Amino acid sequence: MTEHTAGLLVYSPLYRTFSYGPEHPLRPTRLYLTHTLMKAYELLDGSGVRMLEPEEASRKELLRVHSASYLDALDMANSGENFPESLTWGLGFGDNPIFAGVRDWSYLVCGGSLLALREVAAGRSKVAFHTGGGFHHAHYAKAAGFCYVNDIAVAISEQVELGQRILYLDIDAHHGDGVQEAFYSSDKVMTISIHESPEHLFPGTGYVHELGEKEGAGYSVNVPLEPGAADSTFIEAFESVLPSVISSFSPDCVVMQLGVDSMTRDPLAHLSLTTRSLIHVLGRVRELHTGPIMATGGGGYEMDTVARAWTLAWGILTGQEIPDELPEAYLKERARYGASGVRQMTIRDPEPEPLPEEAEARKALEGTLRSLREYGVI
Ligand SMILES: [Zn+2]
Repeated sequence: MTEHTAGLLVYSPLYRTFSYGPEHPLRPTRLYLTHTLMKAYELLDGSGVRMLEPEEASRKELLRVHSASYLDALDMANSGENFPESLTWGLGFGDNPIFAGVRDWSYLVCGGSLLALREVAAGRSKVAFHTGGGFHHAHYAKAAGFCYVNDIAVAISEQVELGQRILYLDIDAHHGDGVQEAFYSSDKVMTISIHESPEHLFPGTGYVHELGEKEGAGYSVNVPLEPGAADSTFIEAFESVLPSVISSFSPDCVVMQLGVDSMTRDPLAHLSLTTRSLIHVLGRVRELHTGPIMATGGGGYEMDTVARAWTLAWGILTGQEIPDELPEAYLKERARYGASGVRQMTIRDPEPEPLPEEAEARKALEGTLRSLREYGVI
């Protein structure tokens, strides 16, 4: 076994064969576009880069996190036909449509996250990235927020059973509620979510006072940000929490959900981050934690932003340089797949204009950090 190779990318060409429907904001094509950009930059041929295709997770693996009756309902939904009582399980309305292959899609994605985390936990790669994963809103017995199976919680649960301590960092614009819920009473998993305030955005949780319970008390950390928060506020939030929590919790593995709906052009959320925040987070996590790291994708509904951000993430995680200018092969595919209105020609975002909302967001963060200090979390 070679230890600490450059990194593992988990991806399936099958991902783009699934569709939530033509009007749905979550388009699996964004994963293909991301893969296209990685390839165009030749980031998949470097020394030590491994690529693996996932297989579907098993029902037994999913039962670590989901109820048997919910999984039965998801089996029924796989035909693409609505059925009585489907709404009981959160299946079949706008956010979580019943589409042909919905169960297969969810099991395959879950298999990808299980594989990625297993590989790094076993030391076969130092870092792994599963762009298709990150469905952090799926609950024990309910689909929610575009998520059917909580691939992250399933993958983490397996490692916890094997005695690992996991730090989960979620930087999606939406609170990582499903993952928090799965480990709310556990002291083996520290969940940290930095997200847009629940006052303004789905799922309406992720308040600073949600700290965990029983043995898990103190093992859930939430840092809500006000709409309009930009890089400097986000980076202050991150720096106020991560270094101290990593050093006191001392995880075996770090799992990161890299949702990029927190970026400024995203149509579903109201934060104003740029690639600077992402670059900062990845660089610092690698500095602060020398053990295994597994990253997943997550939200992100502007396809060009998704492809650029996750390609950058892959470059940073594996220590590969990326020139700023976007390659021609990618620009062609970007135009073909509906991101043609985007004119940005560089992978990194330009310096943003200062926003009037930023001062308010910064002030609100000071209050949040004060509360976290009072609770003894940081
Ligand atoms: Zn999101």
